[in-house]
Amino acid sequence: MAGNTGKVVFLDRDGTINEEVHYLHKPEDLRLLPGVPEAIRMLKKAGFTLIVVTNQAGVARGYYTCRDVEKLHGYLNEQLKKEGGAIDAFYYCPHHPVHGIGEYKVVCRCRKPDIGMFEAAEKDFTVDKAHSYMIGDKELDVQAGRNYGVGSILVGTGYGAELKREAEEQGREPFYDYYAEDLTAAARYIIEKES
Ligand SMILES: [Mg+2]
Ligand SMILES: [Zn+2]
Repeated sequence: MAGNTGKVVFLDRDGTINEEVHYLHKPEDLRLLPGVPEAIRMLKKAGFTLIVVTNQAGVARGYYTCRDVEKLHGYLNEQLKKEGGAIDAFYYCPHHPVHGIGEYKVVCRCRKPDIGMFEAAEKDFTVDKAHSYMIGDKELDVQAGRNYGVGSILVGTGYGAELKREAEEQGREPFYDYYAEDLTAAARYIIEKES
């Protein structure tokens, strides 16, 4: 077990940290969303461990490889480090239950909203669920957080704002614990709640 505090923020990647680009896999197509480096710095300073959990079915579909995903994550962290922050660990699901090729076509436990990536993170980090959160721009992110048992935050970047509007139009009860315009607003909410 790592010597972290147990306060963990799990983050979706596409639409939450970087601009949603369909099947993003090339470093040159990576664009950090506004305010993201600052949000990462704020959370680190407040003692949170930052862990990315991302579904990457593009691997299953044969659009890009695990090596591409890992290279992109290395590049993403280089960009964040230039701004004084970094992600502590990346976990990704390369599978798809229907559209996968070969070994990647599988009903796995890691694809969000299932919680296999969170459980993998627990092998490397202490996770105090009562003081940990999941942030993402899709319902499956929020659902994964709920399934795992941490606070769930929907961000308005990526698909989030549209999703919130649709849910409200349908008269649904909010399916998330908190809605934040973007990652900076989510970070402010968490820090205030935990201090
Ligand atoms: Mg996303
Ligand atoms: Zn998987």
